[in-house]
Amino acid sequence: MRKKIVAGNWKMNTVLPEGEFLVKQLEFLTKEMETDVEIIVCPPFTHLATIGKLIKDNGIKICMGAQNCADHESGAYTGEVSVKMLKDVSCKYVILGHSERREYYGETSEKLYKKINLVINEGMVPIFCVGERLEERESGRHFEVVSEQIQEVLYKLRGVELDKVVVAYEPVWAIGTGRTATSDQAEEMHAYIRRVIASKFGEHADIIPILYGGSCKPSNAAEIFLKQNVDGGLIGGASLVAQDFIDIVKSF
Ligand code: PEP
Repeated sequence: MRKKIVAGNWKMNTVLPEGEFLVKQLEFLTKEMETDVEIIVCPPFTHLATIGKLIKDNGIKICMGAQNCADHESGAYTGEVSVKMLKDVSCKYVILGHSERREYYGETSEKLYKKINLVINEGMVPIFCVGERLEERESGRHFEVVSEQIQEVLYKLRGVELDKVVVAYEPVWAIGTGRTATSDQAEEMHAYIRRVIASKFGEHADIIPILYGGSCKPSNAAEIFLKQNVDGGLIGGASLVAQDFIDIVKSF
């Protein structure tokens, strides 16, 4: 049985008091809730220490992740945040390779491989994002693009390392656009991703959670989550509204 996960990527939104308020709302909404879904919030770096403590001190049933990390362990890398620093403030997850980082910050597979190793070696869980652009889908290259993204990073791991990874399929054309992939499109790609992973790692592919991301909201989550190879969601915009985020969790 694969883990079910719903992770909220807050991106560069909220100032700290707003972030704390959002977590308190999530605490209220999850207090009496019975669920086997791992609920994760990924606030901006500046919030992590405070929100990590808030979650810990109040026994809130959610985990915390970061949206990125440095590709070096420590040292003279001005402006960067190391995996050790993230672990120290109670981060369990790190989002890696989000399309916004690939596109706006030139994140390459080479860099992502370094980062994924650092995250795994620190005992944390990478949420590794893959996904094609609109023109790549329209020209029928979407499978090839996603396969390359997986091969260039995940194929370099050992099976035991791969077991620590969560994959997120996020078609770039669906992120923040209001245009969601259909549940069939999501399932088709998720099943393909599992096959690409299986062709290198065999049955390790069966236990990897694969999340869908891209304009996922309470009105479409249930249909997407019903699919066999969809193990949850990476949620952007809707994760900033506590009730919507929890309604998505409840869609399982
Ligand atoms: C994301 O950025 O990871 C994402 C899925 O965003 P949205 O839900 O807003 O499309």
